[in-house]
Amino acid sequence: MTSMDWSLSLKDVSDKQLRIALAQTNVPALLASLSHLDGSSRQFRAGITPRVVQLAEEEDGLSEEERVTARALAFDRLQAYRNASCPDPEKLSDASVEEAMHFITGEKIPAEQMAIMSEELNLYGEDRRRLNIEAGSVPQEYRVLVIGSGMSGILAAVRLKEAGISFDVVDKNPEIGGTWFLNTYPGCQVDSANHLYNYIFAPESQWPGHFSGQPELLDYFLRVVEEFGLRDDIQLETEVLSALWHENTAEWEVCSLDSEGNKSTNRYDSIVSACGQLNLPAFPDIPGRDSFAGIAFHSARWNHGSDLSGKRVAVIGTGCSAVQFVPEIADKTAKLEVFQRSAPWLLPAEEYHLTMTEAELWCFRNIPFYARWYRFYLFRSRGVDGLLPFFFTQKNWNGHSHSVSADNAALRDALVESIREQAGGDEALAAALIPDYPPGGKRPVLDDGQWIDTLKKPHVTLQSQPILAIEAEGIRTEDGALHNFDVVIYATGFKADHFLQPIKMTGRDGRELHDTWKGNPQAYLGITVPGFPNFYCLYGPNTNIVTGSSIIFGSECEMRYIMGCLKFQFENGVKALEVREDRCRDYNVLIDTRSRECAWGSEHVDSWYKNAEGRVSQNWPGTHWEWWQQTRTPDPGDFHIV
Ligand SMILES: Cc1cc2nc3c(=O)[nH]c(=O)nc-3n(C[C@H](O)[C@H](O)[C@H](O)COP(=O)(O)OP(=O)(O)OC[C@H]3O[C@@H](n4cnc5c(N)ncnc54)[C@H](O)[C@@H]3O)c2cc1C
Repeated sequence: MTSMDWSLSLKDVSDKQLRIALAQTNVPALLASLSHLDGSSRQFRAGITPRVVQLAEEEDGLSEEERVTARALAFDRLQAYRNASCPDPEKLSDASVEEAMHFITGEKIPAEQMAIMSEELNLYGEDRRRLNIEAGSVPQEYRVLVIGSGMSGILAAVRLKEAGISFDVVDKNPEIGGTWFLNTYPGCQVDSANHLYNYIFAPESQWPGHFSGQPELLDYFLRVVEEFGLRDDIQLETEVLSALWHENTAEWEVCSLDSEGNKSTNRYDSIVSACGQLNLPAFPDIPGRDSFAGIAFHSARWNHGSDLSGKRVAVIGTGCSAVQFVPEIADKTAKLEVFQRSAPWLLPAEEYHLTMTEAELWCFRNIPFYARWYRFYLFRSRGVDGLLPFFFTQKNWNGHSHSVSADNAALRDALVESIREQAGGDEALAAALIPDYPPGGKRPVLDDGQWIDTLKKPHVTLQSQPILAIEAEGIRTEDGALHNFDVVIYATGFKADHFLQPIKMTGRDGRELHDTWKGNPQAYLGITVPGFPNFYCLYGPNTNIVTGSSIIFGSECEMRYIMGCLKFQFENGVKALEVREDRCRDYNVLIDTRSRECAWGSEHVDSWYKNAEGRVSQNWPGTHWEWWQQTRTPDPGDFHIV
């Protein structure tokens, strides 16, 4: 069989190649994209109505027969389009766009949500998350400091640059990229659908996987930096040590340290923290941790110099990182023991390790608007809140004690069944893998079978005995046994609630940020903090969007809000904006009430979503729409204005 040439454009492909390509399309997105050829796709839909079936292998709710029919119709239309030499499609009317938006998941979008939906669809690259600031209104001398050059810091830099506002970005790392620079463990990959994990202003359709790996993600962020000419705006190996607010001049005095140990002090009008939530590796408090004689490292700082071949390896932790790297390293090791304190819920995701075929990538490049509709399809089906409704508690629920509602219990049943099926009759393994808390109580992990397949290997053990201590030779468990190892890998996550640590931030009246928070970080909308004028956070407290689209969506909404604050300052000659204490307090009371109504807020569940006080300081407990709506425009009434 001759291989196909996927560098050909639609104009030049044969009927056969076109058919092969279309066989790999997402049908709802394909039919929506056909609208662009004839002004509407109604004639192609042949009575087909997609619907979302969460976690199903075929989540569009269509029968195979319906898919075949739809693709045949699409073939006829695209063949004719090709034969006519692919003229540029005319701009679709608003009514037709809306019609296709409703069609794509078979669910009418409520009128009040049309704005967020068309913003996300971004059909003609309108980038409605960008806030335009009148060029003449930006004071020339105004300077913003962005701390961090990960996904959020790059985003901040793009928006500030577009608006013509002077800024510096600093990062303590030797390279840009944050999470995607630091996490280089084998198998590290995104677990949001990749077509949603990219900026609205730099859409990328050519991802090699449905969930691509760390190298491709880092490469993407570095490409954005180049595309927007940001490299020279970013000072690497520069760590912010402290920031001090000067009331009289309405400026922040920022002290930073470079890689050669030189301290410098600079003044800025505003600070945007883009320090991330998942940046500082956390180690468990196990007695004797430093006494281990072998090699030990954290998964987020992978020791690539350590060859695991033929070694006896311990992995402590069974969260997202462990589930990603354990299958990758298992076959190298002589013995692999995975120490589990608490099992993660495994959410079926068949395509978790599937690469995109050349034909799929070709469709994204060649079928007009198909890539846009595919991203929109993902946003509608998995993105907008996804499983969130399954994680809300039901009043007076008295079903299974490890569930919080009827929907949550039904989800639990389905997930338990999937675990049992994969454990294949090994009752002990199944019992160890079934979590003892409701789905959504902790961060779930995506599962295409690799995790349990790996745990079933003869030289791999899932160890549920609690760890008593670490000794020179290995790990002692509570039953008294000593497990000998050459290497111990900590897959124990991050100090997620240590926002901005260890920076010393001193705001108005000498109040220090961490003393104010006392280990319980709170911010208004996760963005602004009373007592800290002209200071903004991206991916700050209670902004972790746990189900649905991606943290990029969250940060983009937050950055628009921050730009709104700057715009307000510029247009009104305001020197300082400081959020009101009462607004922040009331907001967080609401957050706490709503967190308690979510599976992760349950008093029986402990996780990194909660801080030392047991309060959920990480997650956003609402819907995407609510997040979008509340961050859309700052309300001057929320602020003290100087
Ligand atoms: C392994 C992993 C996988 C993830 N997968 C997903 C996913 O699938 N979907 C999803 O939506 N989200 C995911 N996330 C969460 C989130 O999307 C990423 O953490 C993302 O990189 C956050 O971007 P950020 O810029 O806010 O923070 P970061 O990427 O953490 O960047 C913060 C930057 O700030 C710098 N910094 C911190 N303190 C200072 C200081 N004092 N001075 C100077 N620089 C400083 C750091 O060096 C770092 O470069 C994942 C996170 C991790 C860790």
